[in-house]
Amino acid sequence: MSAEPGGGPERHVLILGGTTEARRLAEALASAGTGAGVAAGAAAAPGAGAVQRGAAQTVRVTTSLAGRVAAPVLPPGETRIGGFGGPAGLAAWISAHRVTHLVDATHPFAERMSFNASEAAALSGVPLLALRRPGWTPAPGDAWTCADSLADAAALLPALGARVFLTTGRMGLHSFAHLTDTWFLVRSVDPPAAPVPPRLEVLLARGPFTLDDERELLARHRIDLLVTKDSGGSATSPKLTAAREAGIPVLVVRRPPVPEGVPEADSVAGALRWLRYDRAH
Ligand code: NAP
Repeated sequence: MSAEPGGGPERHVLILGGTTEARRLAEALASAGTGAGVAAGAAAAPGAGAVQRGAAQTVRVTTSLAGRVAAPVLPPGETRIGGFGGPAGLAAWISAHRVTHLVDATHPFAERMSFNASEAAALSGVPLLALRRPGWTPAPGDAWTCADSLADAAALLPALGARVFLTTGRMGLHSFAHLTDTWFLVRSVDPPAAPVPPRLEVLLARGPFTLDDERELLARHRIDLLVTKDSGGSATSPKLTAAREAGIPVLVVRRPPVPEGVPEADSVAGALRWLRYDRAH
């Protein structure tokens, strides 16, 4: 097994996923081989994630998902779903499946998994890259209040708004469950589980959402506060733009800490460079 990015005759890239970037990286690696790529959604078919790269090199790509979404959109290549059992379990999986490169492309708020990845990389000696999308920065016209955590956001929230579009994810709704006077709109792929705030409307929908979608939603529900994690991604987020246009304040939850000493890329192109696919195609 090669310990260097780009080295060795066979590669197996394990992408810790659950994000758009993770899916795009799997897609890019799939199309980086013969150009034929791998059939989308070909989960777990033996060898389905194998991409021929030139005559000498085979690249296998596996994306790992936590299993939070009931019917996830599967990326090209192989997929595996569910936790590994902590850093030691992840390190064991890496060894058993001859993983040569580990990419932590989890969401910036998937705090535990990024630390697990760092520990597992140290245990197994496999190189690790963190693919982290840049955070958002306020633009002229934005009225942002920043919170350090969901609990902090819940404490600040009642003074800022009464009809709240809460976009911090269905898994963290318990942090707002004690707010009985506030009306919340939540949008998620799967329904949230209790405990949730008592005055809650849930919109089941899967993104991405356009600026027009967001404008319409804010107006229709007479939203007076947007709450979001600093998830980042595209430089202009439709929901942030729509809030700015409507003069709606935004409560932004700052990102949690990340493990030290892990090399980072802020784009799929940067991750491909780390994997040395930049000049090949
Ligand atoms: P987390 O708190 O960092 O992780 C909790 C546990 O879930 C981990 O210890 C691990 O279990 C398992 N896990 C997390 N990501 C995994 C992955 N990609 N593959 C296999 N197991 C994984 O994570 P989270 O905040 O619950 O997020 C779960 C997933 O949802 C992540 O994949 C993330 O990218 C995605 N996501 C999260 C957010 C968010 O706001 N947190 C938003 C959008 C998408 P073991 O220790 O047993 O391995």
